[in-house]
Amino acid sequence: KTFEDFNLKRELLMGIFEAGFEKPSPIQEESIPMALAGRDILARAKNGTGKTASFVIPCLQQIKPKLNKIQALILVPTRELALQTSQVVRTLGKHLGVNCMVTTGGTSLKDDILRFHDPIHVLVSTPGRVLDLASRNVADFSECPLFVMDEADKMLSREFKRIIEQILAFFPPNRQSLLFSATFPLAVKSFMDQHLTKPYEINL
Ligand code: AMP
Repeated sequence: KTFEDFNLKRELLMGIFEAGFEKPSPIQEESIPMALAGRDILARAKNGTGKTASFVIPCLQQIKPKLNKIQALILVPTRELALQTSQVVRTLGKHLGVNCMVTTGGTSLKDDILRFHDPIHVLVSTPGRVLDLASRNVADFSECPLFVMDEADKMLSREFKRIIEQILAFFPPNRQSLLFSATFPLAVKSFMDQHLTKPYEINL
């Protein structure tokens, strides 16, 4: 398999090759075509497998840059991971005209609100901040087609689970969900049963 096999936009393919990726990693080979076909995905994935690009590439492929709306939310547990993930979105999406905003708790909410005057296509964030932004009608997810969660096992513990369910309630019911996790504790399984639709499972 090659990246050309996925029928990606030319500008996206350019970003992928400029990042130095020559061929898809095993998790990308499985997740990219399934995600592009519209399936929900549940992937067991560790760091270092290329998991970030395996959800960033399908996100970028599906975004319409002319549409001034958030078209993908990528939820992560920490600020560090949010920054890393947004870097991947920017690198791979360099030629697409896609704007990615990253925000997490511990930064100024007021500044965030100002930044929403510019178009944002991809939002990378931690749960508490997203809930804040959505509750204040700053971030509108009512037509957001894509919900991504990385390191879900770290987020679905205890108090975070309620926050994530509140965030999901802002999404349309026909959204697509891509969920990545290193382990599958009961909390992740029950979340999956409640909120994913016939997920394609990847276990590498
Ligand atoms: P991740 O598992 O997402 O943290 O990615 C681990 C590392 O692999 C990162 O440095 C990526 O830039 C790199 N990477 C991801 N996909 C590929 C690929 N298809 N070919 C070469 N390197 C890749």
